[in-house]
Amino acid sequence: MKNILKISFAVMFAFVSISALFISCNDDDDSTEPNTVTDYKTPKYIFYFIGDGLGSPQINVTEAALNDPNFKLSATKSVGIGELNLRQLTVTGMQTTHAEDRYITGSAASATALATGYKTTIGTISMNGTATSDLKTMAEMAKEKGMKVGIVSSVSIDHATPACFYAHTDSRNNYYSIGQDLVASGFDYFAGGGVRWNKYDGEGQAEDITLFTDAATTAGYTYVNTKTAFDALTSESGKIIATLEKFYTNTDDGCALPYVMDLDAQASENDKITLSDFTEKGIELLDNDDKGFFLMVEGGKIDWACHANDVVAAAHNTVEFDKALGLAIDFYNEHPDETIIVLTGDHECGGLTLGYAGTGYESAFEILRHQTMSYVEFEDIVDGWNPEVKTFEQALEDAKEAFGLGNETLNSALALSDYEKGLLEDAFNRSMSGESTHEPEEISVIYGYYDPFTVTITHILNNKAGIDWTSYSHTGVPVPVFALGQGMYEFNGYYDNTDIANKIIEIAKLNE
Ligand SMILES: [Zn+2]
Repeated sequence: MKNILKISFAVMFAFVSISALFISCNDDDDSTEPNTVTDYKTPKYIFYFIGDGLGSPQINVTEAALNDPNFKLSATKSVGIGELNLRQLTVTGMQTTHAEDRYITGSAASATALATGYKTTIGTISMNGTATSDLKTMAEMAKEKGMKVGIVSSVSIDHATPACFYAHTDSRNNYYSIGQDLVASGFDYFAGGGVRWNKYDGEGQAEDITLFTDAATTAGYTYVNTKTAFDALTSESGKIIATLEKFYTNTDDGCALPYVMDLDAQASENDKITLSDFTEKGIELLDNDDKGFFLMVEGGKIDWACHANDVVAAAHNTVEFDKALGLAIDFYNEHPDETIIVLTGDHECGGLTLGYAGTGYESAFEILRHQTMSYVEFEDIVDGWNPEVKTFEQALEDAKEAFGLGNETLNSALALSDYEKGLLEDAFNRSMSGESTHEPEEISVIYGYYDPFTVTITHILNNKAGIDWTSYSHTGVPVPVFALGQGMYEFNGYYDNTDIANKIIEIAKLNE
């Protein structure tokens, strides 16, 4: 049997080799194996995944948490254990992220680099550093080539990262201008939490989203914000803008999708559409043209959770971002000759690290599973407390319920020391009275202007797991890059964030 197999393989190999002789100079051959550094086909399906705030530690800590079989997304979702889909991306590189005018970048400057191949200044959306000329984005190039274009984000679709693919303005806060560029872009699919049209630069105008949807409709878009309408979309539906329902007149939490771990707490099914749902629909809608498509998917709230030093919310959202990647990998497996997938972060956020002075060489990632809601949900609970009657003892019970903190019967590593209780009591008093024994300078280091009680809870829980943070802002460490498909070997090595855009533009011949 073995010999027959060997002979079969030998015959097949000979046939393939002879075939290869005849077609080796034909760019359209049927070979599915991508290639060497320079030998690849021009991909017509481009997937660009940007994890906002996704550095190496965010990836590491998510895999560490997933290694605990009881670390689940929610009652309605389950995930694989221990390894993220991004391990299937064959090629790995590393990028530097600095902005034109600041070493530690911001999302607008980094996304401009990732979308256009040019450095710019902090806060600038796809314009040069002095905001005197527009920088053409790879999404605009793809559109000009006749490709379908989709922009998906777990935050608002006019937030800095997605905006850098279709808008040009001197400030990321110019939501009116960004919204105008959005509806004028002609792109085929926008999906995310919501929009913040007029929120900042609209003079005396209502924040009501009808101002935006009217402009979008005039420009030929269909706007959907219910699950039924979203599910019913097909590749025949035309140009689409899809958001959650709750942002129709409401701008809570920056018009972002809820944290994945808070999905069950959403009142309406219309507000439970996830990043991977939006990505799956995007692939379905865009995959209807000979010229292919460009799809950018941003995992935007990994960054927000890291700003707040909530590692569990960040890990759940990283899993969701990675789940969206899994859909692109499935697509690649069906179209290996025509697809490239690139995944990176725009910068690290929070100075997250695996290792904490208080735990030395020890880690206890398994305690993270006991956190049941994000910092945002708990901050809402703290907001509802009456300082006149709420006691510290009651607050500790609430922390135990929501985070497992102090619950020794769940895990002895969750026991609170007197020192930790002191930190929590100080933070609780600060949350309730707004007063503290700390100086303002100290407050910015200790609480980072988040709710003091909530951020102290996540700090202590994270520290007990052997995790620590250095900042409530971004950091300047290099960020990993992953690639799979045609042209992927271009992403080997150590380079600048601007190089990523230039590589994609060159590989897919977007500028020709
Ligand atoms: Zn960012």
